Amino acid sequence: PRIIASNYVASAVRPDQYPEGDTVEVAFLGRSNVGKSSLINSLCNHRGLALVSGQPGKTKTINFFTITSKEDLSETEERRYEWFLVDLPGYGYAKTDKSNRNIWSSFIADYILNSERLMLLCLLVDGRHPELPIDQEAFNWLRQAGVPLQIVVTKIDKLNSKERQQNMRFIKENFPCETPAIPYSSLKHTGRELLLSRINQVIVG
Ligand code: GDP
Repeated sequence: PRIIASNYVASAVRPDQYPEGDTVEVAFLGRSNVGKSSLINSLCNHRGLALVSGQPGKTKTINFFTITSKEDLSETEERRYEWFLVDLPGYGYAKTDKSNRNIWSSFIADYILNSERLMLLCLLVDGRHPELPIDQEAFNWLRQAGVPLQIVVTKIDKLNSKERQQNMRFIKENFPCETPAIPYSSLKHTGRELLLSRINQVIVG
């Protein structure tokens, strides 16, 4: 499958600001600076798409994008389908609010716990730093909430083959999911096919 169109739709901090309709959703979440904007732009092959709010890495809103995917079924047949890509604010950015011991704002939890259209949540883990407690905390929270998860390991091009092997093994043991973690490089678009296939699988089977 390929993404043939991607467009910004809306930003929200409250449920009544979510776009209407029954379009299915795939969300992306990770620590600030994990490489989420770069990954979204790589996935959609759309430079600048994930920077709508202006300040990269400082997005405080939930951003919705409409995506059109295309899959070739045979030489003459194709299937097109639409979904929302949901860019959730990065967590763990500085310690601006010491009174708030939650890893992310309640409106992010609200979205995750209440979205009826959420088919898959991609949790991004930095390939160089898979051992950060905050990511483990996020993972455990999401697991407990019963969210369908896909781990995506970012910046994989920054690792040599030994580090890559070690860190992927660590992730396999500490972030266990139904499907294996997907190594991704937004620089080289490594992992794009695999991630798009996974998304395709949860949306159209
Ligand atoms: P966000 O805060 O999670 O949206 O992270 P960004 O996408 O803004 O990326 C944070 C930094 O990591 C930027 O300097 C990017 O250029 C860099 N980066 C992101 N993805 C990759 C990648 O796959 N490879 C490399 N080498 N650098 C990356």
